Amino acid sequence: MNDCLFCKIIAGDIPSKKVYEDELCFAFYDISPMAPMHFLVVPKLHLASCAEITADNAAVVGHIFAVIAKLAKELDFADGYRVVTNCGELAGQTVKHLHFHVLSGKQLGSFD
Ligand code: AMP
Ligand code: ZN
Repeated sequence: MNDCLFCKIIAGDIPSKKVYEDELCFAFYDISPMAPMHFLVVPKLHLASCAEITADNAAVVGHIFAVIAKLAKELDFADGYRVVTNCGELAGQTVKHLHFHVLSGKQLGSFD
């Protein structure tokens, strides 16, 4: 999508600190980290949020979770981490391209 920040990051038009990339997804460190380890994993397919997940495109979500489990071992945070996606403005979603926050490296608190 033309004016989507995360599509521009995937395309390399906006710089990011890349963690991982394959044919289906792209992972990069969050610019404003909330934990010592905080990166985002996004599908290369533009979906505005998890509200746009359907039976036809849901496989990418399983793929992303498998990638996160692999990265947890490789980057040594498999002892504990949180995966979060915000869906819609009421949930605090600010970038309208589906993304999964991966947070680790400290004791994470409870949330709303
Ligand atoms: P959300 O509030 O769930 O939509 O999350 C959006 C996240 O994107 C926030 O944690 C931001 O810090 C992060 N973010 C915004 N712009 C960039 C960027 N250029 N590079 C990396 N992360 C970004
Ligand atoms: Zn996008």
